[in-house]
Amino acid sequence: MYDVIIIGAGAAGLSAAIYTARRKLKTLVISIDKGGQTILTSNIQNYPGFYNEHGANLMKIFEKQAKELNVEIILGRVINVEKNEFFKVELSNNEFYESKSVILAYGKVPAQLNIPGEEKFSGRGIHIYAIYDAHLYKDKTVAVIGGGNSALDSCLILSSCCKKIYLIHRRNEFRGEQVLVDKVKNLKNVEIILESFPVEFKGEKKLNSLIIKQNNELKEINLDGIFVEIGYLNKVDFVKDLVEVNEKNEIIIDLNCNTKTKGLFACGDNTIVPYKQTIVAAGEGCKAALSCYNYLNNKTGLTIDWTH
Ligand SMILES: Cc1cc2nc3c(=O)[nH]c(=O)nc-3n(C[C@H](O)[C@H](O)[C@H](O)COP(=O)(O)OP(=O)(O)OC[C@H]3O[C@@H](n4cnc5c(N)ncnc54)[C@H](O)[C@@H]3O)c2cc1C
Repeated sequence: MYDVIIIGAGAAGLSAAIYTARRKLKTLVISIDKGGQTILTSNIQNYPGFYNEHGANLMKIFEKQAKELNVEIILGRVINVEKNEFFKVELSNNEFYESKSVILAYGKVPAQLNIPGEEKFSGRGIHIYAIYDAHLYKDKTVAVIGGGNSALDSCLILSSCCKKIYLIHRRNEFRGEQVLVDKVKNLKNVEIILESFPVEFKGEKKLNSLIIKQNNELKEINLDGIFVEIGYLNKVDFVKDLVEVNEKNEIIIDLNCNTKTKGLFACGDNTIVPYKQTIVAAGEGCKAALSCYNYLNNKTGLTIDWTH
């Protein structure tokens, strides 16, 4: 029996673990990977105290700190969370763990195209955020895939440093705001390709082309990088009876990271809290942990309040 099980070992989950462990709560972190989305960032420039380094190095420090406080971390995919007297957390390998409280810190997943080559070149030619990785493609040719505000925004960012940008969208009009559409249409180095969709990323060691399908014909575009901007998936299926969500499937929490279920907390990218950034996730993880500590203390009759 754990005091708390934390689902997710990204910035939110590991920060939460550091705080629960420092309050001597018996803490288990269960996560598909260690480090979460931050490890995809090749150059962190906006996490105060940590500058111009790979995101993976930052997350290794989070993990080291948690482990030194005796946090147990196991790799696994959670497929169900139930609450009776205690919480029961089930993994895809049929194992399960029990705890007095749970912190949900499982982030969000950028939607994928699920086409050949995507896994191979992910983070090495295929990117998600132009704002972070545009500088890698100075004077190069790239493609942006998508038709919403993020895709249009990415074109604007990339147009200031790239030689040429292909904007590829499956519909015949954009979903994004008209003001952004107009700006993109006026950019001299952007070529818009509508009613087409990607079918394969190609290259040997490096990505060097994209195959698209347009009017039932295949066309190969030579390029150096691709930005896939087709939105995010917030997965709540495994906790859906225990939480309320907004229209984006983000978990609704109050200011102290409480969900609608007592003893169940949420923090980071999987919640309604705006500005999906590592530092925000880390801060929210801290809040969720202290709220969890308060909850467990109150249950046992102690009344130390860490909200102050
Ligand atoms: C390419 C890229 C670049 C970025 N660059 C920056 C940047 O430079 N600066 C910045 O501040 N932010 C950046 N961000 C955003 C930042 O990474 C996120 O805001 C932050 O990682 C959110 O942390 P989190 O802990 O909430 O979620 P995540 O980092 O997503 O961590 C969630 C964890 O939960 C695990 N998990 C998910 N589902 C399950 C499950 N069912 N069972 C068990 N475990 C599960 C995942 O494996 C993961 O380890 C970037 C994001 C991306 C994708």
